[in-house]
Amino acid sequence: ANVSDATLLADPAEKIAAVGGAAHPSIPLPIRLYGDTRSNSAGIDLADEQVLARVAGGIAAAAPPAPIAVDAARDVAAAVAAAAKAFPAWAATPVDVRAAALDRLADLLERDCEALMAICVREARKTIPDALGEVREAVDFCRYYAAEARGKFGTLVLPGPTGERNELRLEGRGVFACIAPWNFPLAIFIGQVAAALVAGNSVVAKPAPQTPAIAAAAVRLAYEAGIPADALRLVTGGGEVGDALVRDPRVMGVAFTGSTATARRIARALLDDETRPLVPLIAETGGINAMIVDSTALTEQVVHDVITSAFRSAGQRCSALRLLLVQEDVAERTLAMLKGAMDTLTMGDPADPATDIGPVIDAAAFDRLESYRQSQRPRWVYALPAPDGEYIAPTVIRLGSVAELTQEWFGPILHVVTWRAGDLPATIAAVNALGYGLTMGLHSRIASVATLVTETAHVGNLYINRSMIGAVVGSQPFGGEGRSGTGFKAGGPHYLLRFVHERTVSTDT
Ligand code: GLU
Repeated sequence: ANVSDATLLADPAEKIAAVGGAAHPSIPLPIRLYGDTRSNSAGIDLADEQVLARVAGGIAAAAPPAPIAVDAARDVAAAVAAAAKAFPAWAATPVDVRAAALDRLADLLERDCEALMAICVREARKTIPDALGEVREAVDFCRYYAAEARGKFGTLVLPGPTGERNELRLEGRGVFACIAPWNFPLAIFIGQVAAALVAGNSVVAKPAPQTPAIAAAAVRLAYEAGIPADALRLVTGGGEVGDALVRDPRVMGVAFTGSTATARRIARALLDDETRPLVPLIAETGGINAMIVDSTALTEQVVHDVITSAFRSAGQRCSALRLLLVQEDVAERTLAMLKGAMDTLTMGDPADPATDIGPVIDAAAFDRLESYRQSQRPRWVYALPAPDGEYIAPTVIRLGSVAELTQEWFGPILHVVTWRAGDLPATIAAVNALGYGLTMGLHSRIASVATLVTETAHVGNLYINRSMIGAVVGSQPFGGEGRSGTGFKAGGPHYLLRFVHERTVSTDT
């Protein structure tokens, strides 16, 4: 790219100087980032040895999650029946009272922050910084949706040109099924539940089968915060429980985060029964997320952001970077520096504060990812050695073209494709053609390149000259398009609208 006559974006080196160096995330190695989101009123400081000791003690003391036996058909039907019965009273509860319950829940999540972190580490194999990010994001969701509901749910009076009074009212739909993933077992679980409840729905929530204990802890706090027990019911189990839940005709909406395949299965189940109301499905699914790097990017910053985006949380975020698209001229330099940065990563027990990357969620995930990784061995650019156990070694795989990556690999596996000057529009088109549309990263200092990518990439969240994970509630509404999801975006101003009926009341005066 020709830099001399282009409009330049902010110079990262100047930003680094302005903040005095080491504290700024643009500073390259060593890599250690804490927490995704801005709430920190719990005052957890991970640089404080005593806090770390308490969290570590909690991790050791946390009981192993008890297996919960569930008779899917019977338990789900009972839970939906209870929630359906609780719905009218909860829907009639003033929105300020519902919102106040979410604010109390946020306070309780902060009160129990260290204990919740311990369960996240123990049950979901989260690193300690990621576990803190979970609690903070859950707190943010509660406070944000409470504030949104207060602002939006009053009666809107519309013009009455012939003298009538026209009101638009937003009301809960009924029982909402909230089906959460294991990769954000607290944040996304609470986010779905909080949105559905504050909008006036009752909820039957189903956590992922890998993470029932953290969900149970969250539901206990919701009851303590004043959510009536029947307005929020928890069912646990796998796909058969989820099927029974979404097939129950009393369910009036579904919020789901997980795979694209499961979202399709839910959509089919919702449409199968001809006698059933047409109900919304809010699905947040996977992605084949790319980062575009041109020759004007600052390599140190690119490498830092690639490490964070591709390998943090062991790549188990739907926002994570899967496909690095680097301009040919700077590819070798970028990959050489990336190898050096990967060598500084520590894999190990997530309960150890020094760990950057823990094991993946379970044996099935390990087997799937490891057999793919081994199948690609001839194309490896670099792979770290991994300790024994269910650890997937961060690995970089070189591909010949974008189209060769046909599915999302939900782990710390990064693919690299190079492109030539002039090929950027075609490269963006190739990413669009993959059919997903969740996140994209761009590293470039040329404003016109940023404009091109902004205007032509079909993605829900575009991150320019920064990492591409860790969307902040209320600031970076999160969610994709295409095969990546239906919208509206979690943590955004329109999300609650998917959870309500809009009712217009026109009265002749
Ligand atoms: N919101 C998360 C992020 O921005 C990703 C959510 C997910 O993985 O489902 O990293």
